[in-house]
Amino acid sequence: MFKKLFIPGPTQVHPDVLAKMGTPMISHRGKDASDLQRRLTEKMRKVMFTENKIAFSTSSGTGLMEGAIRSSTLKKAIVFSVGAFGDRWAEVANLNGVECDLHREEAGNPTMPETVEKYLATGKYDTVTITHNETSTGIMNPVEAISEVIKRYPDVLWLVDCVSSLAGAKVEVDKLGIDICITSSQKALALPPGLALCSISPKAEARFEKVGNKGYYLDLKNLVKYIDKKDHQYTSTPSLSHMFALDYQLDRILLEEGLETRFLRHLEMAEYTINWANKYFEVFPMGGFESLTLTTIKNTRGISVKDLNDALGKRGMQISNGYGDLKEKTFRIAHMGELQMADMVEVTDAITEILKL
Ligand SMILES: *Cc1c(COP(=O)(O)O)cnc(C)c1O
Repeated sequence: MFKKLFIPGPTQVHPDVLAKMGTPMISHRGKDASDLQRRLTEKMRKVMFTENKIAFSTSSGTGLMEGAIRSSTLKKAIVFSVGAFGDRWAEVANLNGVECDLHREEAGNPTMPETVEKYLATGKYDTVTITHNETSTGIMNPVEAISEVIKRYPDVLWLVDCVSSLAGAKVEVDKLGIDICITSSQKALALPPGLALCSISPKAEARFEKVGNKGYYLDLKNLVKYIDKKDHQYTSTPSLSHMFALDYQLDRILLEEGLETRFLRHLEMAEYTINWANKYFEVFPMGGFESLTLTTIKNTRGISVKDLNDALGKRGMQISNGYGDLKEKTFRIAHMGELQMADMVEVTDAITEILKL
């Protein structure tokens, strides 16, 4: 029943990390809870390369996307989308009554800095959203080049969806000037789903003060208030189980493996999978912008992705079909979290054999 997951979340969880989910409960209002959250903050700051505050949310990443765009936008947000998860920002904004415009690229193309410049130059926007790693098309946006543009607009807040990249690819929050950087537990951090977290810059905090109706549960100002006034606690009762597991997993990431080694492992797995894909099929996103955490492959041979996945299932492995409109037109192989190079060799060899390539 349990297959080795090559899907872009939930990803494989190490058995020792999974066991930490079974840690006995503590009071969420005690000193131990504060100590736990403070420890997680210090460790997450290293993973994110930031001095900013770290907020935790007992929700999936989408919850913090909603909280972030709603708590940040005073005038109007500009959403740059390169696929389904980019579109989600606009959907969330619209349903929350947040003013927003959507700029969508053709599937497989990245958000280019010139495009961002064109919109910001109008002066109409005070919030920008970018998807760092678009999990539908397998594209990684050039955030360093984009940051050069956004830095020229100091009144604009920059929100980045790093849900499927953080802890697998290097995202230097402070160097890039990201105001809110969001991730989820079940992707490259390799924990069970149910916890989201984000960094919050002082500039973002100042903006929250000015924005009126921010809702209740996902009001980022409220999350920050509990960090400051209650010494690193949560607004309601958090998933302490996830926090225990994250505490342990961050030691594995930072101390056991080391961040740079982890990034290199992801890079090597990506290069291997991209080479395999280009040999037998074709990589879907524009060359030079391929994701480091998953490869989206064009179904140039017209195979049945569903049948392929059924056959892989018999061998105890699972990959992903294309997302939304790209179903059967593409398929996706994730290489993030706990997966190792040997796993990538195993899954690609199995596909080569099943399809008699
Ligand atoms: C998975 C994913 C999301 C949604 O995250 P949830 O934790 O499922 O809410 C958002 N953006 C990207 C890029 C993702 O890969």
